Amino acid sequence: MQPDDAATYLKGVGTAKAKVLAAELDVHTVADLLEYFPFRYIDRTQRSTIAALSDDGDYVVLHGEVSDIRTTVTGKRSERLTCTLNDGTGSVQLVWFAGTKWVREKLKSGIQYVVMGKVSIFNWGWQMTHPEFEELAKSEANGEVPFLPVYNTTDRMKRNGLGTRALARITETMVRSLANIPDPLPEEIRTQHQLVSRRDALIAMHFPQSIAQLDSARRRMKYEELFLLQFDYQYARMQRQHAVRSRVFSRVGECFNRFYKEKLPFPLTGAQKRVIREIREDMRTGHQMNRLLQGDVGSGKTLVALMSMLLAIDNGCQACLMAPTEILASQHYATFCRMLDGMNIRVELLTGSLKNKEKTAIREATAKGEVQLLIGTHALIEESVAFSDLGLVVIDEQHRFGVEQRSKLWTKSTLAPHILVMTATPIPRTLAMTLYGDLDCSVIDELPPGRIPVHTVHRREADRERVFFFLRNEIARGRQVYVVYPLIHESEKTDLKNLQEGIELMLFYFPRPQYQFSIVHGQLPPDEKAYAMERFKRGETNIMVATTVIEVGVDVPNATVMIIENAERFGLSQLHQLRGRVGRGGGKAYCILMTKDTLTTTSKERIRTMCSTTDGFKIAEADLKLRGPGDIQGLQQSGTLNLKVASIVDDEPIVAAARNDVRQLLENNPTLKGCEPLLHHIAAKHNQYMWGKIS
Ligand code: ADP
Ligand code: MG
Repeated sequence: MQPDDAATYLKGVGTAKAKVLAAELDVHTVADLLEYFPFRYIDRTQRSTIAALSDDGDYVVLHGEVSDIRTTVTGKRSERLTCTLNDGTGSVQLVWFAGTKWVREKLKSGIQYVVMGKVSIFNWGWQMTHPEFEELAKSEANGEVPFLPVYNTTDRMKRNGLGTRALARITETMVRSLANIPDPLPEEIRTQHQLVSRRDALIAMHFPQSIAQLDSARRRMKYEELFLLQFDYQYARMQRQHAVRSRVFSRVGECFNRFYKEKLPFPLTGAQKRVIREIREDMRTGHQMNRLLQGDVGSGKTLVALMSMLLAIDNGCQACLMAPTEILASQHYATFCRMLDGMNIRVELLTGSLKNKEKTAIREATAKGEVQLLIGTHALIEESVAFSDLGLVVIDEQHRFGVEQRSKLWTKSTLAPHILVMTATPIPRTLAMTLYGDLDCSVIDELPPGRIPVHTVHRREADRERVFFFLRNEIARGRQVYVVYPLIHESEKTDLKNLQEGIELMLFYFPRPQYQFSIVHGQLPPDEKAYAMERFKRGETNIMVATTVIEVGVDVPNATVMIIENAERFGLSQLHQLRGRVGRGGGKAYCILMTKDTLTTTSKERIRTMCSTTDGFKIAEADLKLRGPGDIQGLQQSGTLNLKVASIVDDEPIVAAARNDVRQLLENNPTLKGCEPLLHHIAAKHNQYMWGKIS
């Protein structure tokens, strides 16, 4: 039997059962089932007696004799099967509503059974519905395993003879017949971390002899999972470095130096300097740079991007910057134009809202190499923009931008451009290593001097009058305020309704013409959006009511208050990002998190985190812990987090160790001599490495 064999090769699995396994568990091969681990175990030695049962919903193991088997017809095509289980201390009624025919054939009066399931009280007595059962004699003949695996099963599986006991039996036979399971982990690494072999680990995951054995099996499987994840990333990276040549940016020239000496409006922070140095080092190796730039909101990532782009221009290349939204792209464009004023660098903005004629003109100038710095949305990738010599791409991202998407940039240049990815908000270290494992990481861990932390408070519906009073005061002092409503993608209609109700409420408390509003949301045409933003920026309006479109990038130094409605509905990182929109002018700024009056414990904890820290990395960690990776914005689509045993939250040390080990392995043994199972793993994954247009 081979791991890749179809599930039908397994003893006890015919075509019918194989179909059910495939449909219900996505289990198709022997290996799939081998890696379908129990979610818990029953300690067999902890057998319960019926007299001592309690109604706490626990899974119990009973031994007893079956009697009084009955079938009652309950409808046209439905019937119920009941029997009594007696263990000498009391009795439990066992009940089946489905699959009764099969049960009827198996159950015999007067015979001892091992019965497992959850007991409940029904009509004054104990009852167990759809329990698992096995003849005691057979169960004992199977050997005394101290822990019984419990697998997640579905009703359809149970009806088809694939309950947790049946799965255990199939798995046990399989595990016994697997003499040798290749181990992808190199010997040295296993020794170094004292990891058990793959075969032993797999057996113990299903049939542990002790808790200690189970623990070491788990540790081994976690390590393996994270090791292979890192391996896939880093191996692909190594291949890319061999296959892909990139421009060598050997010099720091006129543009960079002149900007540094004459144009820089303030001294760089130490962190900015360090990161620029890292980027410069990367870009002069001849290998393609693939770097992730992380930094808190307001840490000055834009400036780092700009100066990196100047390096490209100094070396005769073009550079482009891609932003997640048009608003942000235009804002970057404005910033760049202002900063590069008088430097004779041609910067252009290419967005969907341009007229066709203008677009064509920019495209042509870009193809000829006349445009040195092109700014646009992520659509730049999809659109047929040709560069004359693209040397650096900066991706200012909101959602995860996959390897495949990045590799599309290849087609735009004969030599692969260097790539710098900037995250919109900080992400925790483990997550960065897991999600962006193929990127090197630079962190700006220092904010420009003189920032006063935004004062953040939690207010409830009941405090609304007080909040509005405060707003009026701030506006009277010439300040501007944001009011943000959540946008939840499932129902844009309800969102819009929320926003509209909010606007009406605001208009009631803040009547025109004394107060002026800018209203911005996703459904507005881009030019209206831009106009509303522009008015707010110029100070013609006092209040900006918006959905989260303002999340990325708006820069209005005079805005000092950010009110976030239904704050409990936002992710922490999103809240943090929004909060970063105020306090940019150096004055004291406020963030008011409005929520309904009653909150869940988790929501309370999250709001409390927001009020107590302004450190984006800490907030990201808290978000990950409180919500789990599945809920974090932009991560749902990424397959990387479908981990079977490891946890991105709890296993940070293993992630770090595995990453390090993979790096060393590939450095010392790039051809993977003696690592046949790993080579096999690569061959199996081959298709995945074929992304992009590397030839
Ligand atoms: P983010 O990292 O969130 O993209 P930005 O690049 O938008 O941050 O920078 C936030 C603000 O800080 C901008 O107004 C920018 O001009 C300013 N800034 C950037 N670097 C420095 C610095 N070294 N000293 C002072 N202000 C800076
Ligand atoms: Mg930014």
